[in-house]
Amino acid sequence: MRKSALVAGAGGFIGHHMVRYLKDRGYWVRGVDIKMPEFGTSAADEFIVADLREFPNCMTATEDMDEIYQLAADMGGIGFISANHADVARNNVLINAHMLEAAHLNGATRYFYSSSACIYPLHLQESPDIAGLQEEDAYPAQPEEGYGWEKLYSEKLCEYYTEDKGLPTRVARFHNVYGPFGTYEGGREKAPAAICRKVAIAPDGGDLEIWGDGLQTRSFMYVDDCVEGIYRIMQSDHGEPLNLGTDVMVTIDELVDLVSAIARKRLVKRHDTSKPQGVRGRNSDNSRLFEVLGWEPQTGLDEGLTQTYEWIEEELIGAGRIGAAAVA
Ligand code: NAD
Repeated sequence: MRKSALVAGAGGFIGHHMVRYLKDRGYWVRGVDIKMPEFGTSAADEFIVADLREFPNCMTATEDMDEIYQLAADMGGIGFISANHADVARNNVLINAHMLEAAHLNGATRYFYSSSACIYPLHLQESPDIAGLQEEDAYPAQPEEGYGWEKLYSEKLCEYYTEDKGLPTRVARFHNVYGPFGTYEGGREKAPAAICRKVAIAPDGGDLEIWGDGLQTRSFMYVDDCVEGIYRIMQSDHGEPLNLGTDVMVTIDELVDLVSAIARKRLVKRHDTSKPQGVRGRNSDNSRLFEVLGWEPQTGLDEGLTQTYEWIEEELIGAGRIGAAAVA
């Protein structure tokens, strides 16, 4: 029998890729989002535009679905989430509470929840050369304000729905996902997309603005690895949260150097330390992920950034923002 899957957040970055991934595996896929995908059309068999903060919409979306992939969230880069604690926390807790209840009432066989590295305690991330964060580091809790607290609470909700109502849930804590078809401007974009856009727009030899002093560290995961990891975690027997990321840590300055090299541009870095930069250092410890799946993300940063840069550059050329059309 052909399996069905609901991708919530199918109009967003990871959800858009998840729909394609599941279609390629023969699933019948329904997508749901408050908006249609921004870049390209969805591969979903059915696409519902609906606000998942409303419970009746969650009931409609989860009806007759075997597997639920919950990727819908009000979110963005550090500038956005640190300026919108109340909205982000309220919107996301409504989405997650209602989606879990609807999935349970509609008899879903399995439920995936997209958590984040933002649930980890801030005091463990105060130095740039931090050790990888392990799953058990989550408690005692001191997550990112707003967004991180809500993610941690919704992880707990998944646990309660498994224990009390028998809904099998799977939870991954993503670490900085990047790739084509993601937001690259407007305030919700993340560092890799913002850097690719800035590098593409800057003239060779020009300036490039960087948030913070550039020495803050992160690890980055290419979106193809993210959807592969989500699927593998969903099919596994592991009910507790798992890190899903790479353990290759770079500074933001190094990330800028990599993108500049891909673009074959020499740029002068201008650091703006008045802008939010998030935690000082963050890396993923993938020991448990590898133990459970015998797999971990495969795509090198250089390869993934090349794909991402080329896509953003093409988008900007298409919009007449760079290249011959912009000069004319
Ligand atoms: P995204 O913003 O591109 O996608 C989220 C989607 O949710 C958007 O299309 C948005 O329209 C939709 N949405 C928001 N409010 C909604 C509502 N009320 N009703 C219906 N849809 C609504 O983000 P993404 O990068 O694809 O992230 C997917 C998931 O992964 C989210 O849960 C996010 O918190 C999590 N995550 C992402 C990253 C990352 O680096 N991208 C890191 C950690 C966790």
